[in-house]
Amino acid sequence: MRCVLVSKNLDLRGYFGAEFARSAPRIELVDHTADATAEDVRLALAWHPPDDAFERYPNLQAVCSIAAGVDNIMACPSLPPDVDVVRVIDPGQAQMMSGFIVWHVIGHQRGFAAFRGQQRDRIWRRGDQRRARDVPVGILGSGGIGQRVAADLAQLGFPVMSWSRTAKPDSSASHSFHGPAGLAAMVGEGEVLVNLLPLTPETRGILNGNLFSRMRRGGYLIQVGRGEHLVEADLLKALDCGQLSGAALDVFATEPLPQAHPFWDHPQIVITPHDASDVSIGAVATTLAVTAEAIRTGQRPPHAIDRARGY
Ligand code: NAP
Repeated sequence: MRCVLVSKNLDLRGYFGAEFARSAPRIELVDHTADATAEDVRLALAWHPPDDAFERYPNLQAVCSIAAGVDNIMACPSLPPDVDVVRVIDPGQAQMMSGFIVWHVIGHQRGFAAFRGQQRDRIWRRGDQRRARDVPVGILGSGGIGQRVAADLAQLGFPVMSWSRTAKPDSSASHSFHGPAGLAAMVGEGEVLVNLLPLTPETRGILNGNLFSRMRRGGYLIQVGRGEHLVEADLLKALDCGQLSGAALDVFATEPLPQAHPFWDHPQIVITPHDASDVSIGAVATTLAVTAEAIRTGQRPPHAIDRARGY
């Protein structure tokens, strides 16, 4: 099966070509820019596709992302309404994400930023050694990654709450909340807020001043969803007035973060360059192979999202 590679900012062939040749040899990769016979393309691998990308492929059946998120594909104006959009689910990524988030939660709990400052000034001053049980964590998003994070934090003794769109029973790791009322209740009880939501019309701008004002004073934000979830000016205000004590930001509305952006110099912000965790190249190859097989046999691809929901 032919699979067209569509991206305006990533060399997908350079990234994935060798692994696909090894683990998905029945898939022939063709470049979007090459003069491909567009009628025989039924599958695409895409990341930030150009606006008109999908106009040339009248028989396209599925578009695979190279990541857990599909928001940049869903935003493409030429994406036909009846095409399946497929995400990558990689337990190894959930584990990596969890380690990254646990690191930030403990950093806040134990005051590592203050220790770094003290070391710079050669100051020997011990911390207050807050117990994990005194630092409740609320997680926005209880999907594959959110559940893994909840389990790992609970194992370390943190009280964990999870928020989702649909109602879920409490798990052994976390207390469950859902819907708008559940959001207000959960955020009011938490000290650390972790964003692991997909970007959809409902979740865009959800990390805003109103939400921050409901958190415990001195709360901490860990933002690993998508940049567009955050109202950046509201975060700066919440930090500057002490409502939040700090924020760890991995994703930004504009990436790379512009050189003149005020986040770079903010003493209470930790920046990482959208590096919490990629999926593995092997997981992308497997997803593509499984999707090609589903198309061949007339099935719905296993990791196709619900397009009406947006994730
Ligand atoms: P997922 O399995 O699709 O789970 C999404 C969760 O969000 C579900 O629990 C869902 O609720 C909830 N949700 C969606 N819309 C909601 C709404 N309007 N209100 C309340 N809850 C809502 O996603 P995942 O694999 O865990 O990944 C989550 C996101 O993490 C990705 O979409 C991506 O944005 C981000 N991510 C970032 C990185 C990074 O490197 N920074 C890496 C991987 C992923 P239901 O359970 O009720 O459906």
